[in-house]
Amino acid sequence: MDIPIIDFHTHTPAWDHASWLAGAAFTPADFTAFLDSAGIRAAVVLSHDGLFHATPEANDRLAEFVAADPDRMVGFGTVNARYPGAAEEMERCFGTLGIRGLKIHPWLQGVSMHEPSLDPIAEVVAAHGGSVLCHDGTPPYATATQIAAFARRHPTVPVVLGHAGLHDTWREAIAAVTETANLYICLCGVPPYAGRHIIDRCPPERVLFGSDAGLSDQVGQAYAVARAHEITRWGVDDTTLRRVLYDNPRDLLGGWPQ
Ligand SMILES: [Zn+2]
Repeated sequence: MDIPIIDFHTHTPAWDHASWLAGAAFTPADFTAFLDSAGIRAAVVLSHDGLFHATPEANDRLAEFVAADPDRMVGFGTVNARYPGAAEEMERCFGTLGIRGLKIHPWLQGVSMHEPSLDPIAEVVAAHGGSVLCHDGTPPYATATQIAAFARRHPTVPVVLGHAGLHDTWREAIAAVTETANLYICLCGVPPYAGRHIIDRCPPERVLFGSDAGLSDQVGQAYAVARAHEITRWGVDDTTLRRVLYDNPRDLLGGWPQ
């Protein structure tokens, strides 16, 4: 069965050269060529520069990148909760830039999920029916239970564990997701054996797929292509796989893409 894929975790290139994640330079056309090569119908695209410097300019450039093909790319902007005007910038992301969610990287941005400064920002996300995708899997600031506490403070906001716990904390991620109704889990960076456990144990409507494409030294994003092919060989039944790869992310994105 050929299942279309919505990749819930990808990045733009770095433009301001302040990132130690680096990666190749690529254009929106290069990126959609990568999507084609991996069988990916559409992608949630996150800022790269914004993880290090969460400026309005980073959101502007993300919005410009995804506007090249709005049928295939949607952007999640970012703000640093400690910066003055963060909630207003989030409002501008939704109202002016066409952004559909918030990416938080608590570790790189140095913001604990328990900080009250995140709450007015989450209220903006709630008002616009958006989602939050949060980096996770790297203590001390980004474990699943810390993120679950944030999700519980904002029960109408879907909150996605962007990495499903990575190699070391995926069991905690499963526990947090099964006990928090608005917490989702994105299979991105977890080893396949952990991915199988996650699919078996988490509520089936809250599991997503992501490749972390955009950080490769190759324009073609070879590791992400491999990842998209690999998940279809984990032995997951077609019905479940279709939910993870397409139906769940599409529901979360309000029926996008058409
Ligand atoms: Zn990422």
